Amino acid sequence: MKPARVRFAPSPTGHMHLGSARTALYDYLLAKQTGGQFILRIEDTDQKRYVEGAEQELLDGLHWLGLDWDEGPDKGGAFGPYRQSERKEIYQQYARQLVEAGHAFYCFCTPERLQAVREEQIRNKFHAKYDGTCRNIPLEEADHRIKNGENHVVRFKTPKTGTTIVHDHLRGEIVVDNSTLDDYIIVKSDGLALYHLAAPVDDHLMKITHVLRGSEWLPTFPLHSLIHKAFGWEEPVWVHLSVFLKPSGKGKMSKREAMDLAKDGKSIFIKDLRELGYIPEAVVNWIALMGWSYDDHTEFFLLDDLIEKFSLDKLNPSPAAINFTKFDHFNGLHIRNLSIPDLTNRIHPFFVEKGIEVNLEKLEKITPIIQERLQTLDDAPDLGGFIFDEDVEVTASELVAKNTTQLESLNILKEIYQVITQLPQITHEMAEPPMRELVEKLGYKPGQVFGILRVAVTGRMVSPPLFETMEIIGREKVISRLEDAIKMLEKPLEQN
Ligand code: GLU
Repeated sequence: MKPARVRFAPSPTGHMHLGSARTALYDYLLAKQTGGQFILRIEDTDQKRYVEGAEQELLDGLHWLGLDWDEGPDKGGAFGPYRQSERKEIYQQYARQLVEAGHAFYCFCTPERLQAVREEQIRNKFHAKYDGTCRNIPLEEADHRIKNGENHVVRFKTPKTGTTIVHDHLRGEIVVDNSTLDDYIIVKSDGLALYHLAAPVDDHLMKITHVLRGSEWLPTFPLHSLIHKAFGWEEPVWVHLSVFLKPSGKGKMSKREAMDLAKDGKSIFIKDLRELGYIPEAVVNWIALMGWSYDDHTEFFLLDDLIEKFSLDKLNPSPAAINFTKFDHFNGLHIRNLSIPDLTNRIHPFFVEKGIEVNLEKLEKITPIIQERLQTLDDAPDLGGFIFDEDVEVTASELVAKNTTQLESLNILKEIYQVITQLPQITHEMAEPPMRELVEKLGYKPGQVFGILRVAVTGRMVSPPLFETMEIIGREKVISRLEDAIKMLEKPLEQN
């Protein structure tokens, strides 16, 4: 395949979500795979919907996901500027060209008149659209009215009869009856072009070979194709990606649904996923498979695998339900795939966030014993944070093992103490065999004996692997905690 020039063209109108991340990922994969370029273009023509900070959030999100672009507003490139608000004159020039060639026209209709027409059409059960009043005003007359300061917009002159045939890579040929299309506005009364003109113009000037975008753009796809045709430009390959459905599979994601997800510690927004302790490798893997598959069984992919294996032909146009269970699964898989130093660096901020003072050297010892059990990075402080505690908080009743009396547990504890204090060092290799022997000798279940030891040393009923944990806590602290526990069990329960 020839090197592809692919653009990710987000509008800075809100938080970066899974849908835009997936588009960006596929763009990136196609560009990298073909030795082409991945271009970031900010589509900020709609100033009313502009959200301060949204562009930065997009850049941060892409960086975090590892999807670095070759050309973009911050990087420059041979086809800039890459922010549509900086390209106004270009669009005006192209709009004029369309008007002069008879593919667009100046429209002087007032909003009030248009509103009345629309209401009338709706009353008569017609499809509401522009009624064509200004379609045939001669250009000299229109220019004269403009010179006189009359308010106007530019509309595309959509054919009234016949059909328009557009081609989507996933859906094949789509035939549209021209009578269903409107004379869409392409330049507003303030002289600013709309996305509908800006995107085709930019795609052409930036030599874009493939347009990948959400299928919410299918309704205006014929317009974009017609604009290319009107200019006589070669069209890019059009790829309208599948929509994401709510986790229930019933309907599209809505704002409300997104808020409800937050209550469950889930989110569709990239910046939240990062804060929730998901790792970018997992996000990339998960979204790659929402609308694409390699075969019917491979599911673990790193970005480099995806660059090699991705193909447009395996994209699936059917809607895909967002499956967070799968996401958790991928996050676990990718966490386990990280090296210990890498994972240590990634969990560190989550300890700091929870106010746990961490020493990186010690944390690196904890990482291997919790790695297996992490679903998100955010689980790490809960699983391993207690190892940094100076003291444990234990109650006597917690020290009494299941189906034993306080006295029996005390005796077990004393035996444990004998074994542990005889060890010169506490390591898994040294501690496990004598402890197993002790279990045999005492005739209690392993769970009872190890349970008492676990609670006494860690203050918890569940912990990462016990001997490894004890090794990190250190011999001295382990012994003093065992002594405290013995003292506690020597008193009657009510005195504790
Ligand atoms: N600015 C549009 C959006 O944010 C991009 C559509 C396209 O890629 O053409 O959805």
